[in-house]
Amino acid sequence: MSEQEITPEQRAAFEEKLKNMSPEELAAFQKQQCIFCQIISGKIPSKAIYSDEHCIAILDINPAVKGHVLLIPKEHYAIMPQLPEFLTEHLFTIGKKISQALLRGLKASGTNIFIANGLAAGQRAQHFMLHVIPRKEGDKLLNLDEQLTDKEMQNHVLVAVGNKLNELLGIKKDKVEVQKTLEPEKEPESEEKEAKPEEQEKEEPEEEPKEKEKETPDDDSEEPKEDVSLDDIASLFK
Ligand SMILES: [Zn+2]
Repeated sequence: MSEQEITPEQRAAFEEKLKNMSPEELAAFQKQQCIFCQIISGKIPSKAIYSDEHCIAILDINPAVKGHVLLIPKEHYAIMPQLPEFLTEHLFTIGKKISQALLRGLKASGTNIFIANGLAAGQRAQHFMLHVIPRKEGDKLLNLDEQLTDKEMQNHVLVAVGNKLNELLGIKKDKVEVQKTLEPEKEPESEEKEAKPEEQEKEEPEEEPKEKEKETPDDDSEEPKEDVSLDDIASLFK
């Protein structure tokens, strides 16, 4: 977010106000100013591919490449050292699954997991986040001439990656896709309707046996079986 133009008097008054705030007031103020806290509370719309009690994964509105995902803790933390241990673990666990969903769902040939920790490291938002960026040989990473924010592309990513992610996490509900074999009676949400059928077919990994889809575990405590194969590893290094 770009800083607004303010006069020195306004700045002094503002700093005085901040100084007199209790830690609780300061935390509330930070949240109120934070665009990502507003996304989390739903005040600002976003394209979410995943959400749980502790975190949300959304498509970057200004992506480095198609499928650039931001994984954001729901609590406001500015930098990584502030994160509680359980949350660090949780974010990396989910980030790992997102990486895998990008590899499978978007047929990415690699991913970058990126954290900008502090201004000098390129951190632009004051809300900690983990970037998961799908890569392809010869991609134009950081080439922003390309139109990456159109709705069709976002929907493609939502279907392809959201789907694969649910599968990897063993989540049956909130399916992004309209899949014949699962819950045919379920009314898809508006975004799902716009997805083209051929895009849904494309995301099907060719080497995977069909039955795998049906045995997505109900039980959260059970580790999803399908995670990473030697083929996946080989495909990243060829
Ligand atoms: Zn925030």
